Amino acid sequence: MTRFAHVNGRYVRQAAASVHVEDRGFQFADGVYEVCAVRDGWLVDEGPHIDRLERSLSELRIGMPVARSALGVIMRELVSRNRVADGLVYIQVTRGQARRDHGFPNPPVPPTLVVTARSLDRASFDRRAASGVKVLLTPEIRWARCDIKSVSLLPNVLAKQDAREAGCFEAWFVAPDGTITEGASSNAWLVDAAGRLRTRANSSRILPGITRAEIMSLCRQHGLTCDETPFTEEDIRTAREAFVTAATYGAMPVVQVGDHRIGDGTPGPIARRIRDLYWTTRES
Ligand code: PMP
Repeated sequence: MTRFAHVNGRYVRQAAASVHVEDRGFQFADGVYEVCAVRDGWLVDEGPHIDRLERSLSELRIGMPVARSALGVIMRELVSRNRVADGLVYIQVTRGQARRDHGFPNPPVPPTLVVTARSLDRASFDRRAASGVKVLLTPEIRWARCDIKSVSLLPNVLAKQDAREAGCFEAWFVAPDGTITEGASSNAWLVDAAGRLRTRANSSRILPGITRAEIMSLCRQHGLTCDETPFTEEDIRTAREAFVTAATYGAMPVVQVGDHRIGDGTPGPIARRIRDLYWTTRES
């Protein structure tokens, strides 16, 4: 099946889609991105994802390439053209194309917009969620503005590769103070020895996950208190449960972190409940 992408106002065959060699995304990773899940053909949490895109762009002083409503049309068009039932829409916006020079182009150039959509194997995520996944611990080596969803992902790429090579699904970054910040591409959660549900508070140290925010709001609605104090490897050692959250798969139970088996080594009841609750409420 021919796949389609959207590049700067045009729908093109993905195999032939391209940006300029002097695009600042390619030269400097001077751009941001968003990933929005597609479930049964519907965009999941679209509004919050576009809000975060606008925020990331404004932090880097890049303008929105098209109006929000137009972006919504493009996303839907690609879901339909690529016949995505379950999968994701990827949006990337860069500062645009200009002669290579570190400072911003002056006068400014139009931002580059690339949007793609693809299917994901939902059943394979469900299978992984049923058995639970492993997480590798790795030193935090990222920059001080992890709240911006920048395409500059080298530390995340290296951490994820280390995780894969160790047979793990995800890597958790351990900050110099011993606390876990987040995953290479997910937010990190724990049910600690006292039964408290914990995930680190939003700050410039982590990406403010949309799935994280939606799950926190579901927890509030269902009387589950969430404690936002950071957790350490010591907390992991005695934790009852752990899980990670991201748009593509919702909540994913974790059964091992580093050398520590979590609970009895099977997905815990709170992680499973949150996973079900999240997807059930996205379907309505
Ligand atoms: N942190 C990082 C570093 C991520 O890359 C992601 C996923 N893109 C997340 C957290 C989770 O964010 P979201 O729930 O919005 O997908």
